Amino acid sequence: MTATKNPFYSNTLQELKILFNTHQLPKSGPELLYNWHHKKKNISPCLTDLAKISIEFVNNHFDFSLPHIDFVQESNDKTVKFLVQLKDGLKVEAVLIPFNGKYTICLSSQVGCAMNCSFCFTGTQGLKRNLGTDEIVGQFILAQRWLTEHRPQDDKILNIVFMGQGEPLHNFDAVKKACDIFLIRHGIGIAPHKITISTAGYLPGLERWKGEMPNINIAVSLHSVIKEKRDVLIPINQRYPIEDVVAFAEKIPQGRTRFVTYEYLLIKDFNDSIDDAHATGIFLKDKNAYISLIPFNPFPGSKYLRPSWDEVEKFKKILDDYQIPTIVRKTKGDEILAACGQLNTKLIKGP
Ligand code: SAH
Repeated sequence: MTATKNPFYSNTLQELKILFNTHQLPKSGPELLYNWHHKKKNISPCLTDLAKISIEFVNNHFDFSLPHIDFVQESNDKTVKFLVQLKDGLKVEAVLIPFNGKYTICLSSQVGCAMNCSFCFTGTQGLKRNLGTDEIVGQFILAQRWLTEHRPQDDKILNIVFMGQGEPLHNFDAVKKACDIFLIRHGIGIAPHKITISTAGYLPGLERWKGEMPNINIAVSLHSVIKEKRDVLIPINQRYPIEDVVAFAEKIPQGRTRFVTYEYLLIKDFNDSIDDAHATGIFLKDKNAYISLIPFNPFPGSKYLRPSWDEVEKFKKILDDYQIPTIVRKTKGDEILAACGQLNTKLIKGP
């Protein structure tokens, strides 16, 4: 039986340093490897710069394999959706969302999701399994490689959002480690405030987030401040009520300009009325809140509908009156069902 190799893309720089140290290998190795694989995103092994003894160790010790891109869909607005196949055959999605010739990448953290939100495509699958750190980092690397190959003029990914499949705080360890890896200067080197973790309001995860990665942005899926409605939309509200989640988020010391983003999914005739807007305004005024209004993206079989732009504008106007900074998130990649958070591999027919 062959021993399972260490998945390279799951290792932080610090872990590589400890390994190299334990095996008495030249100290420059870990940074060279990060530069070669994470920064330059090479597939081929880093053979030239490493000492011979390190090359031998690296070849024997690490597994450099990544998930593979099963299918790519591009929409007219330059959104790109990747169907990513994992080693065990399961699939998740990652999406590149364009802005000004650059991109935000939306990553998945789990296959399926345990939160069972009533408006969410992923929720219908239940939780299949958590993604490993290498599978999360792998989504970024695959998408970046694809961009460099297909759109070399505009191949910069400047932001990372965990708004794909899964509840990132429910897979805390792997997500945290992936974030640690994204931040490393010798590799991808993204700034912490360029990463956002979106949560349905999983309070135990938020408690850990506060202690372990407070510099990373948090977004809370709010969708309603009215208990009866939020209980239906996001069932974990029954266990972790939004009042407790917001009270906790408020206690987190915010940097000079940091706000918690509250995502509010607007669903026609469910949570988009003038009364809903006032209730939200009253609830969030004087808080460190920033609201992102997301018109619901219908999908085949969904029981909810998207409100008209008029209704969205009316809702926003009321929040403006409460002086809460509010933006309307433009839906991108509609024709390929690529909206973050409404990803479901089952609908992709394949080439
Ligand atoms: N579990 C996390 C992250 C995944 S969902 C969370 O709940 O925040 C990311 C965002 O997409 C959430 O705000 C979610 O409510 C939203 N979303 C889910 N389904 C959607 C749909 N059909 N249309 C628009 N946004 C959706």
